[in-house]
Amino acid sequence: MEKKAILLVSGGMDSATLLWLAKREFDRIYAISFDYGQKHRIELEFAKKLTEKAVVEKHFIVEVPHLKGIKGSALTDETVEVPSEEYPNQPPSTTVPMRNLNFLAIASSFADIYEIENIGIGVHSVDSPYPDCRAEFVSSAEAAINASSVMVAKKKNRITVWSPFLGMDKAEVLKLGLELGVPYELTYSCYRGEIPPCGECATCRQREEAFRQAGMEDPLKNSLEGR
Ligand SMILES: [Zn+2]
Repeated sequence: MEKKAILLVSGGMDSATLLWLAKREFDRIYAISFDYGQKHRIELEFAKKLTEKAVVEKHFIVEVPHLKGIKGSALTDETVEVPSEEYPNQPPSTTVPMRNLNFLAIASSFADIYEIENIGIGVHSVDSPYPDCRAEFVSSAEAAINASSVMVAKKKNRITVWSPFLGMDKAEVLKLGLELGVPYELTYSCYRGEIPPCGECATCRQREEAFRQAGMEDPLKNSLEGR
């Protein structure tokens, strides 16, 4: 049987790696990205480039107006600054409440209609300060999705929330991605949405550390020159 997956693609390193790993694991790939009022909305441009390069079946870009409207998160609220340190508070001020629950719920609607049995999400151990990036969340979301799926009720199959990076850290995800040939020059991470990336926010720091551990220069730097 043809194996299909829909992947949450932000435009960052982890979801890019997920995309390239999925090319190996699945026959047909769909991608979904969300415009939720993030300051780094520019990541959606990178998500588009990545999904074009990966040649997906379809790339859905979904607006999430209620997340746009809710203030209080450093990722969406102009009055809350993105911290320059790595997660000084836990959960971090960059948490968007229930973001991944919203995203997985929306992706599962597409999964139900397109009869896709796998929903991919690129969370890893470095994301664990975010409550909705932990294994407990992923398994609970999967249970809820299966309980509410029309496809599952009809076909008696299962939907899997495919999260292959849960036991890995970001450097390990990068190592895998380098083996898979992920074009990291097409990925973007900065929470502040700056070009060039600020180099100070948590995700800039984590990205830099992952490339440092891999012993290489971030290829995004060269690709941004002249922009
Ligand atoms: Zn940054």
